[in-house]
Amino acid sequence: MKEPMILDGQEVSKSIKEQLALQVETLKEKGVTPCLATILVGEDPASATYVRMKGNACRRLGIESKKIELPIDTTTEQLLKTIRELNEDKAIHGILLQHPVPEQIDERAAFDEIAIEKDVDGVTTLGFAQNAFGFANYPSCTPAAIMAILDHYDLPIEGKHAVVVGRSPILGKPVSQMLLNRNATVTTCHSRTSNLSEHVKQADIVVAAVGKPEFIQGDWIKAGAVVLDAGYNKGNIGDCEYNGCAERASAITPVPGGVGPVTISMLLKHTVESAERSAQ
Ligand code: NAP
Repeated sequence: MKEPMILDGQEVSKSIKEQLALQVETLKEKGVTPCLATILVGEDPASATYVRMKGNACRRLGIESKKIELPIDTTTEQLLKTIRELNEDKAIHGILLQHPVPEQIDERAAFDEIAIEKDVDGVTTLGFAQNAFGFANYPSCTPAAIMAILDHYDLPIEGKHAVVVGRSPILGKPVSQMLLNRNATVTTCHSRTSNLSEHVKQADIVVAAVGKPEFIQGDWIKAGAVVLDAGYNKGNIGDCEYNGCAERASAITPVPGGVGPVTISMLLKHTVESAERSAQ
């Protein structure tokens, strides 16, 4: 069996960041420093790590990051007030509210309070709808990363049958819409799908967005399919059983080092683009 092409997220991310570094430099010459505000509510250690990683990635590229930490007993109204203040702050170009928030908070209301021009993580209802229509400025970052990987490696999308496993509002649904907008024929599967493996076996492009370690099995993969594993489970394990899937795939993302690094680059890209729009 031929070895699959490894879709290297670090390489894709590097080329995105090289371009972004030039854009940041140009903005700074105009006196504008892109700035991402991150909001962390509570003390979930995984969320704290994600926020820290995003902040560090910003700093490495010369993007400012403003970290807002709120206590675990924050109310919806208090969070909405914080978001409104950030919306009005002209020095802030992007707002990221780390998911999940404590359960007493209405997360949807909080996401939807983010001004569309600062919704660099693509979480608002309006941003989701714009993505479905195919004209979002800032689509959700992981779906955008998946599309960027396909494009970086010039993998054809039009006319292909894409099977997405997962239908979350930040990942499965928006990536299904993006693939559809690029003229793939899309099947979106979920926990109530019957005969899941039979659907995956039809796929030219498989997107795994399940949140279950090694869930997609090697013998579900059609020979020559392209496999994009967005899963990121405890122990750096993806949603695909890597070795089995790699035996049949023509191209595959590793975990770690696949979709993850490109997702962070998309967040940086959207923040820089928002700063550019504000400077116009
Ligand atoms: P989520 O909100 O938990 O959604 C999981 C989806 O998988 C749901 O739509 C669920 O179906 C479906 N599912 C669950 N069990 C299934 C089963 N047995 N058969 C078929 N479908 C099933 O998760 P998410 O936020 O989309 O994240 C998915 C994965 O991506 C996780 O591993 C997460 O860590 C990872 N992720 C990675 C990045 C990154 O930057 N790389 C970013 C975000 C997420 P129902 O809708 O029917 O419940």
